[in-house]
Amino acid sequence: MVAEKHDIIVIGSGFGGATTAAKLVSAGAKVTLLERGPWRDTDAIRAANISARAPLPAGKSFFSHALRRVSASWLPGGQINLHGDGLFDLHYDSQLSMICSSGVGGGSHVYSAMNVRPAEDYWDGHHDALSGTTIAAHYDWILEKMGSRTVASSDALVPNSIITDSRRPTWMNVAGVRQPEMGFRFARGRFSNNSFFGSQDNSKVSLDERLLLPLLERGLSVRDRHEVMDICQTDQGFRLTVKDNQHNRIRTLLAGRVVLAAGTLNTLRLLFSSRAHGSLNGMPALGQRIGGNGDVPAYWPCNETGRDYSTGTPCHGRFTLQDNHTDLTRYGLNGVDRIPMPSSLRARLKRDLVLVGMGADQGDGTASWQGSRLKLNYPQRNSSVLADIYTAFDRISSLSGKKVYFLRDRPITVHPFGGARLGQSTADSVINACGEVHDIPGLFIADGSALPAAPGVPPSMTIAAWAGHIAAQLISSSPSTHQEVA
Ligand SMILES: Cc1cc2nc3c(=O)[nH]c(=O)nc-3n(C[C@H](O)[C@H](O)[C@H](O)COP(=O)(O)OP(=O)(O)OC[C@H]3O[C@@H](n4cnc5c(N)ncnc54)[C@H](O)[C@@H]3O)c2cc1C
Repeated sequence: MVAEKHDIIVIGSGFGGATTAAKLVSAGAKVTLLERGPWRDTDAIRAANISARAPLPAGKSFFSHALRRVSASWLPGGQINLHGDGLFDLHYDSQLSMICSSGVGGGSHVYSAMNVRPAEDYWDGHHDALSGTTIAAHYDWILEKMGSRTVASSDALVPNSIITDSRRPTWMNVAGVRQPEMGFRFARGRFSNNSFFGSQDNSKVSLDERLLLPLLERGLSVRDRHEVMDICQTDQGFRLTVKDNQHNRIRTLLAGRVVLAAGTLNTLRLLFSSRAHGSLNGMPALGQRIGGNGDVPAYWPCNETGRDYSTGTPCHGRFTLQDNHTDLTRYGLNGVDRIPMPSSLRARLKRDLVLVGMGADQGDGTASWQGSRLKLNYPQRNSSVLADIYTAFDRISSLSGKKVYFLRDRPITVHPFGGARLGQSTADSVINACGEVHDIPGLFIADGSALPAAPGVPPSMTIAAWAGHIAAQLISSSPSTHQEVA
């Protein structure tokens, strides 16, 4: 088998991978981006004549394309692969379950577009060579690229915005609550089917159309449906074993430098399995200090007469309770129009709400590799943030007289982080202040697994800012890449 040679390979096209690739290509680098999922068949991608698109889960394709893989340590083989072009990956673990997605653009298709910076001191104290000032400009860049802004009280035409909702219960407090900026095309005024199952008309800004498409003409090579199975360190760099699901063959790709951005769950899997095969060595702190960013999702069947909560922006906004300062986010079942179901059930679901609580957890969980399966240990009792959210949900049940349903003591996160974290040395961390694995030169980590602590807010901007920082380090260390990013 002939091995192909590449300068820089980026694995994964979500907030970490797309940002790294965009910044490197803009600076003149030759980048190959490997993404296991397909290009999604949205209006922008179709208009760009990208072939071999796969549908977002909707209508007839909903049940076939909603799930890619379900994994759990007790399943035969550890996982069930459902559809190569499925959108979501679910990893079940009694201690901490994780949800992520697949496709060119990564999590930007399924996320609720909340583009939020963490506390100002988030980056301080993790490495002598790094501070919030070092990273600040990278936040500005991605926030601007995503067209992020908050809903203003003058945005009367945005349905169900929590700040303009005149029927909001009095106990749902928004005074003094910081509302999220959102990566959304407000001016178009299309306010439906734009959330967890993707945005067909690109009302929600996604990374494939916003960052990647414009760079195809400038030489970015995107290999969709290419799943990296193994990363092997060699004398000259790295040899990747890649399953090309488009042509149904195994390929070998060589690269001097590799940026791993497959998302927390899949980056940890790749690093653990490559180490177990003997392809990578070292990384004694791999799997340490993971967390779920305090996520607790809940379903609130409030069944409010005369309401259609399924329209609006991908989330309605944030609130607190008067006597509990936990930050909660409110969502309708946006996208329910595109799921096949009896019309009476759909009408009912439109009157219900989803609530999500989150906050900075301790991030003191661990991931380990047991017989080719990822096992998570998450001592959630150490994180008071989870108990505070449970209390807030119980309080809403009693204030409203309608029970809020959630899984107590079985956390599910869409914001996993850590496990290949940034730090000072191999003893306490996997990567250094440039994002390079301490004991594997040339291998960089640019996704949620690199984060040194829970952001306590939705993490995509923090991941993109970290990826931007890594790209800047690579650009400054490489003589052939020098222009600043457009
Ligand atoms: C329902 C939901 C709502 C969310 N809402 C928000 C929100 O409002 N705001 C926010 O900030 N965050 C939100 N998030 C979280 C956000 O989506 C993630 O934090 C973010 O996408 C993580 O970025 P990443 O680059 O680490 O990984 P991802 O964006 O997950 O990208 C990783 C990519 O790598 C690909 N990949 C995986 N394994 C391989 C492999 N072996 N080979 C090749 N490619 C591979 C995957 O297919 C994927 O496309 C939400 C997440 C979900 C699921």
